[in-house]
Order: sequence, then C-alpha cells, then structure tokens
Amino acid sequence: MKRSAVYPGSFDPITKGHLDIIKRASQIFDEVIVAVLINPDKKGLFNIEERVELIKRVTRDIENVKTESFHGLLVDYMNEKGSNVIIKGLRAVSDFEYELQMSHMNKKLDATIETVFLMTSAKYSYLSSSSIKQVVMFGGCIDDLVPNEIIPDIMLKIDKK
Ligand code: ADP
Repeated sequence: MKRSAVYPGSFDPITKGHLDIIKRASQIFDEVIVAVLINPDKKGLFNIEERVELIKRVTRDIENVKTESFHGLLVDYMNEKGSNVIIKGLRAVSDFEYELQMSHMNKKLDATIETVFLMTSAKYSYLSSSSIKQVVMFGGCIDDLVPNEIIPDIMLKIDKK
C-alpha cells in the first residue's frame, strides 16, 4: 500500500524551512501532498492559486510531492485523499503547544489519523512566512530564506502593496 502523508499550512509564501520539511518527508513517505489551507477570513499576501503555483515551482524536481489546496476540516480532506498521516514542522516550544492541541483535536475527530512531527533544521528554526514578509516590507534581504526562484514574485507583490 502506498504510504501517503499530508503537509498542511498557509505557505504565504513557501520558505526554505517549509521546503526542508517537504524534502525530508518525501524521503520517509511514498507520497507527500502539500495542502494549502483556504481560509476565507484571512487575506494573505498571495492568493491560494499563487501559493500553490509557487510551491509547485520549487518542488517540481521532487517526484513524489504534489500540491493542492483544501478547505474545511483537514481530516475530511485526508479521508478523501486516502491518507492518515499529517506532517508538521516544529520550530520552538511555542509551536509545540499549539500543534499538540491540534493533533489531539484531529485525533478526536478521526482516531485513525496520526500527526508526525519533524524538527526544524537548526538553520531555519527562526524562519516564518510572516517574518519574511516583514523583512521585505522594510527593505531587508531574504536571500537564503526563501527559494531563489520565488524572490522576484515576493518583491513584486510587496511593491504593489
Ligand atoms: P508559517 O508559520 O511560516 O506561516 P505555515 O502556517 O504555513 O507557516 O506552517 C505550515 C507548517 O510548517 C507548520 O507545521 C509549521 O510549524 C511548519 N514550519 C513553518 N516554518 C518552518 C520552519 N522554518 N522549519 C520547520 N517547520 C516549519
């Protein structure tokens, strides 16, 4: 049976921290589905289609990774996909508290689902999509923080704001 895992998040935009988790998960599971959460209440920098496109662009060489978007309950989406593993990245204790709560809730909703945590690589432990947006907004350099091929997209978006 194909072992499939879902890596959910906002990915607004994808960072090198996210990409590192995707690469490592793709070595553990037969298939990794990166799932961009559609949250109508939260307007991001990139719209959902753009976020999916950026992720597809930077993961195109990893054969067993695909990217989609979803709305509603993660457990429902996972059942639709025939996957019972959620991948999460952990950066700090603050992530842990929130993620522990989420994993218990998902377990309550569907006892067959397991959450697997991958520890951040030390070099990306301070990285988040929101900090990247702030750095760009104030003219800082984001080389090394996001994949090179999406830097122009981020610059253009922030310029238009
Ligand atoms: P962010 O917190 O950067 O806005 P998301 O909400 O899109 O990111 O996060 C999706 C998942 O990726 C979460 O499990 C989050 O903990 C994980 N993640 C985000 N940044 C990193 C990082 N630098 N290293 C490891 N995991 C990360």
